[in-house]
Amino acid sequence: PARPVTHSVVLIEGDGIGPEISAAVRLILDAAAAPIAWQPAVAGGRAFAAGVGTGVPADTVALIEQTRLVLKAPLETPVGHGGKSANVTLRKLFEMYANIRPVKELPGVTTPFSGRGIDLVIVRENVEDLYAGIEHMQTPDTAQALKLITRRGSAKIARAAFELARREGRGRVTAVHKANILKLTEGLFKRTVEAVARDYPDINADDMIVDACAHKLVVAPEQIDVAVMTNMNGDILSDLAAGLVGGLGLAASANIGDHAAMFEAVHGSAPDIAGRGLANPTAFLQAALMLLRHLGETEQAMRIEAALALTLTEGRVLTGDLARGRGVAPSSTMAFAEAVAAN
Ligand code: NAD
Repeated sequence: PARPVTHSVVLIEGDGIGPEISAAVRLILDAAAAPIAWQPAVAGGRAFAAGVGTGVPADTVALIEQTRLVLKAPLETPVGHGGKSANVTLRKLFEMYANIRPVKELPGVTTPFSGRGIDLVIVRENVEDLYAGIEHMQTPDTAQALKLITRRGSAKIARAAFELARREGRGRVTAVHKANILKLTEGLFKRTVEAVARDYPDINADDMIVDACAHKLVVAPEQIDVAVMTNMNGDILSDLAAGLVGGLGLAASANIGDHAAMFEAVHGSAPDIAGRGLANPTAFLQAALMLLRHLGETEQAMRIEAALALTLTEGRVLTGDLARGRGVAPSSTMAFAEAVAAN
């Protein structure tokens, strides 16, 4: 038999609960014998404290340039820090233009939307739009921000959406936009997605105005498949969508560029519960599953996903956030990880 390939991946353990959820995820991936060689690296709070103004040390950047793959726990930016956060620095440095947020019901996690079969993906453009952060005061009483949309940037994110649909066997890509009002910026985005769609005749392409999409996500979320949108619309709707399936604490996202990909939990470093074994590692595990799928290790990802689903359905070993609602005594981060590993 062919020798299995080992993938070298930078692991940033991050701040707050980061080291705890990192240890939990490593335990689960080790139990599944995932073929990953972790390369530990520092960014965020520890880097700022050591005097690295960007929050991302040069040797971390060099390591990512080698592996091109990062699993990243949440990072803190010191309060009052004038510059960019370490997260933004990483995304910009490696031009990770696509933010991918899968939104799928988890078994055993009850929400007002349970049982509807929600399984959608938000594909958000990650570097353009109002988030270029180009603002100025026109007069002392009038502020202006520049909304920057390019044909090239729109085409890249459109292609990412259609490629994802094809890879995951999804039938439809919806361009979500505000082209009825912003005819040039959002209009350019919409027209560019439509142009790219012609290269994917096997996938249905349609469009929806962003406010209608917000409504649809709440009244009929099972009708959305892949939704691609500009940066700010995606920022807002991806959090809304995460709320449909149990909240930010369970959601993960991927930041994809041409030269590097970074996988992370959506939640922050949770300083209020850090160091006490209270954190739920599920979101960070979902990030690791996205990484495994990105590497083509689909079978391993499916096995771990099934073990997670079983643990959540059994409902005997759950961290406090999930245990509370189900009337069981809360277990620690590592006890939950061990239960998933055993399954
Ligand atoms: P947060 O997500 O850290 O916490 C919000 C609430 O959710 C807290 O009550 C916390 O205890 C709880 N929570 C979060 N993750 C949890 C988990 N895995 N298990 C159980 N409970 C969990 O948001 P915040 O308090 O606004 O931010 C804290 C810090 O994290 C800030 O410094 C912020 O800048 C940073 N942050 C980083 C990222 C990132 O690295 N991508 C994202 C968001 C926030």
